[in-house]
Amino acid sequence: MDGMTMKKYRREAHHSFPRDLAHPAMRVFVNRSLAMEKIKCFGFDMDYTLAVYKSPEYESLGFDLIVEHLVSIGYPQELLNFVYDPSFPTRGLVFDTMFGNLLKVDAYGNILVCAHGFNFLRGPEIREMYPNKFIQRGDTDRFYILNTLFNLPETYLFACLVDFFSNCPRYTSCESGFKDGDLFMSYKSMFQDVRDAVDWVHFKGSLKEKTVENLEKYVAKDPKLPLLLSRMTEVAKVFLATNSDYKYTEKIMTYLFDFPHGPKPGTTHRPWQSYFDLILVDARKPVFFGEGTVLRQVDSTTGQLKIGTYTGPLQHGIVYSGGSSDIVCDLLGAKGKDIIYIGDHIFGDILKSKKRQGWRTFLVIPELAQELHVWTDKSAIFEELQSLDCFLADLYKHLDSSSNERPDISSLQRRIKVLSYKIENGFTKKVTHQVMIQQYTDPQGVDFAAIPHTEHACSDSREEKLPFNRKKPPAEPEPGSV
Ligand SMILES: [Mg+2]
Repeated sequence: MDGMTMKKYRREAHHSFPRDLAHPAMRVFVNRSLAMEKIKCFGFDMDYTLAVYKSPEYESLGFDLIVEHLVSIGYPQELLNFVYDPSFPTRGLVFDTMFGNLLKVDAYGNILVCAHGFNFLRGPEIREMYPNKFIQRGDTDRFYILNTLFNLPETYLFACLVDFFSNCPRYTSCESGFKDGDLFMSYKSMFQDVRDAVDWVHFKGSLKEKTVENLEKYVAKDPKLPLLLSRMTEVAKVFLATNSDYKYTEKIMTYLFDFPHGPKPGTTHRPWQSYFDLILVDARKPVFFGEGTVLRQVDSTTGQLKIGTYTGPLQHGIVYSGGSSDIVCDLLGAKGKDIIYIGDHIFGDILKSKKRQGWRTFLVIPELAQELHVWTDKSAIFEELQSLDCFLADLYKHLDSSSNERPDISSLQRRIKVLSYKIENGFTKKVTHQVMIQQYTDPQGVDFAAIPHTEHACSDSREEKLPFNRKKPPAEPEPGSV
């Protein structure tokens, strides 16, 4: 990229800036400085990055198809009555294949929430199964992390299935599964059936077919996308690296760029391929960021792969299948640091590209918009919590090893509980809702580390819709008691 010829794009003066763009949800957050003028290549993932699937329509479709497949392999017909509830699942939950529980754990493996079906377990119940309320997150044979947006339907389905089998009189619950007469079904086998059904729906079933049949219903479209990519191609190279196959990619991308105009209104429409210097389908991330797979050329008229490995130079408008990040660097003439890769998968798109190839990374987190809403909306509560924390520190500050009187912090703790409850009560996610419930009912008292936990969406309009058997919030302390 030639800095002298690089075109500058500047925002208009703040007063004429559209109001919504000033909103935190429209901003990009960085955790280290990035000189964008040094970036020579912009790489994009497709699913949930360029192609944003509409929620909850897309997840509902996936959920229904998974359930249908489970019924087709012998699961009870009653499962067809399940209806996907988008307010229950959230990204990053862990399914324990031994006890059938959905767990919310922190970065170290401490359990914050534990749900068996839709029954949220209390502290002592959790400790019976998980000593110290702790799990080895690395035990991937037992614990499965549901870490992508594609996992949301099955997350909810795990809760539905455990709830169904626990409450259906035909089945008897036991520690690691259910009995139906002489038949025993372990949580592990149920988990495997669901995982197989999810894979079947994605790779062999009709999810893709039904999505492309009704793209308006399932995929969001933004008329500014051609403009963004055309500006990027003026100053850098742009590539697409998606795990999806060519036929599906072609339909989705054609739809995303299906406007009567080109980059700007009044300009001529251009095919989607013209916005990319390199297009790679069937990328097989995360393998793509290591040894990769054979690079082949796709015949774009038939969708068939050409035999043999492609060894020629980069050709504009050609679609490739497979390959690796090293091949991308060679074809584009770029080094790892020259590339920023934009994707939604923390492991497959971001961790692997950064750790194995030194690419710069840009993670798409749609949930962050709602999270920021909570932070701004409840900022007064957060500030009060912070000042209470300082107050606590002050109480202990002048104590030393000779001190044998304990400061009375009970009213302070009560106030912290109330404030924490107010924050958590703003979240729509039921699994998160239960974090504070857990704390109120936990005889060990408040888990201070969990209080400023704000990972989920907030909607004030739903505050009164309390799920399950919610306990009353803790009583407000007397005014002036803190
Ligand atoms: Mg993706």
